[in-house]
Amino acid sequence: MLNLVLFGPPGAGKGTQAIFLKEEYGLIHLSTGDLLRSRIAEGTALGIEAKQYMDKGELAPDNIVIGMIRNTLKKYPDAQGFIFDGFPRTVPQAQALDEMLNKNNVPILGMLSLEVEKEELIKRLLNRAQISGRVDDQNQAVIKNRINVYNEKTFPLIEYYKSQNKFYAINGMGTVEDISRRLKEVVDQF
Ligand code: ADP
Repeated sequence: MLNLVLFGPPGAGKGTQAIFLKEEYGLIHLSTGDLLRSRIAEGTALGIEAKQYMDKGELAPDNIVIGMIRNTLKKYPDAQGFIFDGFPRTVPQAQALDEMLNKNNVPILGMLSLEVEKEELIKRLLNRAQISGRVDDQNQAVIKNRINVYNEKTFPLIEYYKSQNKFYAINGMGTVEDISRRLKEVVDQF
């Protein structure tokens, strides 16, 4: 099973490249941001709780996100593989994911980390703010907080995957096609 983690700071282009990987390799794309936003749109209790964190640029609690991933994985017993986008975002989330996957002998094969210069990230986020309609894209202070939260809680995952020899840095600058090609070069080795 081709299980991949797509990693990178907000604005790195994970969502865009996840669509490429999904089509190229026939995978299921699991974005916790998208899953949470659909819970919010449905008005579920989980959505209402998560929204309080998301609107401020904070992370939703681990137990909420881990439970959501666990339930979603069960819906695809015949999947050829998953692209995890925006998950894991904390070390406890990564440990929980490993536990879920290793139990079934379908581990993560690689963590693909999109590396983008800071100035470019901010440019992309401001650009996306014009079109996404997302509350957390509209406010500079919230964007800044998301980047701080990334540096503090999510960046340490690089070490987590390095220690398992699963870390792959991908240059995330250039055209969408350039970046897709670089990802493919790595994924084709798995
Ligand atoms: P981006 O990566 O551009 O910030 P996402 O759609 O991945 O966008 O995430 C939006 C928000 O959803 C995050 O700021 C956070 O509040 C929440 N979220 C998404 N994934 C997770 C996660 N794995 N753990 C906790 N919160 C999450």
